[in-house]
Amino acid sequence: MTVSNVRHNEMINKKRRPRLCACRCGEMTFEGEFCEGHDVRLYKAILSEVGGLIELRRLVEDKLG
Ligand SMILES: [Zn+2]
Repeated sequence: MTVSNVRHNEMINKKRRPRLCACRCGEMTFEGEFCEGHDVRLYKAILSEVGGLIELRRLVEDKLG
């Protein structure tokens, strides 16, 4: 196997490596950080948790100063 083949395989493995969905649903995803649609689900869950987009902005601004 050549060096460029190894690099190529590493790239594929990195992309294909299963990981836990970042929304903490416990499902595995093979593409990106989230299962399909779970990023939107997390976004909506966060919004409803803090009470809306304006509240979220206020929290972030408080946190970041
Ligand atoms: Zn998820």
